[in-house]
Amino acid sequence: MIPAAPAAQKHNATPPARPAAPWQQLWRQAERDPRRLLARLGLDEAAARLSDEAAAQFITRVPQGFINRMRRGDLNDPLLRQVLPVTDELAIVPGFSLDAVGDGAAKKATGVIQKYQGRALLVTTGSCAIHCRYCFRRHFDYAGENAARGNWAEAVAAIADDPGIDEVILSGGDPLSLTTSKLAELTDALAQVPHIRRLRIHSRLPVVLPERVDAELLGWLAGLPWPVAFVIHANHANEFDAQVDHALGELRAAGVQLLNQAVLMAGVNDSVQALAELSERAFAAGVLPYYLHQIDRVQGVAHFEVSDQRALALMQGLRARLSGYLVPRLVREIAGDTGKRPL
Ligand SMILES: *Cc1c(COP(=O)(O)O)cnc(C)c1O
Ligand code: SF4
Repeated sequence: MIPAAPAAQKHNATPPARPAAPWQQLWRQAERDPRRLLARLGLDEAAARLSDEAAAQFITRVPQGFINRMRRGDLNDPLLRQVLPVTDELAIVPGFSLDAVGDGAAKKATGVIQKYQGRALLVTTGSCAIHCRYCFRRHFDYAGENAARGNWAEAVAAIADDPGIDEVILSGGDPLSLTTSKLAELTDALAQVPHIRRLRIHSRLPVVLPERVDAELLGWLAGLPWPVAFVIHANHANEFDAQVDHALGELRAAGVQLLNQAVLMAGVNDSVQALAELSERAFAAGVLPYYLHQIDRVQGVAHFEVSDQRALALMQGLRARLSGYLVPRLVREIAGDTGKRPL
């Protein structure tokens, strides 16, 4: 037998450390002060090119467990770069707008966005456990535009009225930032709609706050009347640790299909090595790669953008190196298209 390389080890066998606290408490303990974050990592504020103005546009929020996975003393740490508000975000770059993906135009009802055939996306909440600097929703009006308002009634009615919708996608924000009972209220109502065949959940929580995957959530998932696709959003192999592996293993045991969607970002994962390790590490945790996204061109994220030419070269490198099922599809979202556009 050939000994397995570290990245190929199966990662869901590790027993979990007992959660230190219920997830809501860990949620509240997230770091909101970028200076304290830097100090904790032994980093110098001036060298980090920290920006209070960027932080005011979109506040800092990083769960403590995610900080633990960052390397100390490394300003280029791929996890840190995803959350630190820096001066680069203030650059006004032509082509980078406030509603890059046309969400405003695709609104079907409060909190319901439909762009593609058969699939309705619910903006369930504006809250997230982590604030990702690259987020295309950093300028979205969440306060008024989430489907949970009024006990989901308007959103559920819009879906019930359209027999063409067979898949409901819970998105946000992060849908798992809602309590499980609030989510169950929604799925109980959706269960009355006969034309729904699949449920999809997009959440970064199993990765950034794995304690969210508790017995109550698992019980809810296992009891849903539809097959469930669960898309985690991990951008780098270092986002996985034993506790994340355990949470993902429990999600699989509850019967959900785990997929990963990543955003291609300069300085985070723009190398064949980083992308290959991400796919291998995700698979070891029971997750198949789904999409690799070209970043949505919203104001404040231009410094993360990777050119299409370079993105295609990276994909070629990945195909040369990985099993076919570990190669994600490189796509871009273009307002008005009938689906994500392959590059
Ligand atoms: C991305 C997206 C979807 C899902 O597209 P898939 O290609 O099925 O993953 C659905 N609705 C909206 C509004 C989206 O932005
Ligand atoms: S919606 Fe997703 S990408 Fe955006 S801040 Fe929340 S977790 Fe991050």
